[in-house]
Amino acid sequence: MNSEEEKIVEAVNVSVKYGQTEAISGITIAIKPGDYIGIVGPNGSGKTTFVKAMLGLVPLSEGKFVFGVKPVKIGYLPQRTSALDPKFPASVSEVISHGLLSEKKFPRRINSADKRRIDEIASMLGIETLKNRNVGSLSGGQQQRVLLARALVNKPEIIILDEPTNALDPHIRENFYELLSKLNAETQTTILLITHDAGNIGNHARKFLYIDRKLIFFGSFNEFCASCEMTEYFGPYAQHYICKRH
Ligand code: ADP
Ligand code: MG
Repeated sequence: MNSEEEKIVEAVNVSVKYGQTEAISGITIAIKPGDYIGIVGPNGSGKTTFVKAMLGLVPLSEGKFVFGVKPVKIGYLPQRTSALDPKFPASVSEVISHGLLSEKKFPRRINSADKRRIDEIASMLGIETLKNRNVGSLSGGQQQRVLLARALVNKPEIIILDEPTNALDPHIRENFYELLSKLNAETQTTILLITHDAGNIGNHARKFLYIDRKLIFFGSFNEFCASCEMTEYFGPYAQHYICKRH
C-alpha cells in the first residue's frame, strides 16, 4: 500500500472566507483511515468552519479536499446550541432511522434490515432500552448518544463530532469518550472530534490538530510532546498539560 492509498481525506491548502474575513487559511493535512483526531483551538479559531468545509457546507476560497479512491460517507454531529424541546415528538428509534432515510430514494421506508441495523447501533451505544422513549424526555447524555446513533447508523467511514461533550456532566463525558474509543477500535471508523477539553483529549484521541485560523500543529501526541516549536508556542506547562504522555 503506498501512501496515497492510505489517505482517507486530505486537506490541501484549504482557506475559507466569510465576506472579506478569512476564517481559516492554508490548512494542509492528510487524514488516514482509522485515525482518531482531537481538534482543538481557541473560540472562533475556525474549527467548525474547517469541518463544515470538509462536509461541503461552506465554500472554499482556496484549496481543496481530496478524498480517497472509494466514495466516503461522513457522519456529522453538529455543535449544539440548545437542548431538544422536551415535547419534540419523535421516539429514539425514529430519530435514529432518519440517518438511514436520508440515503434512500422514494418511497423512503424502513425495512427489516434497517430495523436490525438500528437495533445494532442502539445496543452498541447502550440505548437499546430507550428505543420507544420520546427523545425530548431523555437526559443530555442520552440525547447525545441518540444523535450519535443517528450519525452512525449508515456506517460512515468518517464521523465528525463538534464539541459533543459540552453539555455533559464529567462522568458522562468519560463514558462518551469511551464509546468513541470503542467505535474507533472495533469498526476502524475515522473520528474527528472538536473539543474544548484540551486537558483531556490526549487521554483519548491518538492525533492532535491545533488550529488558530491557520495550522499550528498536526501529528501524534508524542510528537506534540517532543516538539520544541510547540514548547515555544504554548510554553512547557500547557504543552505537557495537553500531551498527557508523562
Ligand atoms: P470555532 O468553531 O473554532 O469556534 P468558527 O469556525 O465557528 O470557530 O468561526 C471562525 C470565525 O468565523 C469566527 O470569527 C466566526 O465569528 C466567523 N464565522 C463563523 N461562521 C460564520 C458565518 N456563517 N458568517 C460570518 N462569519 C462566521
Ligand atoms: Mg465551533
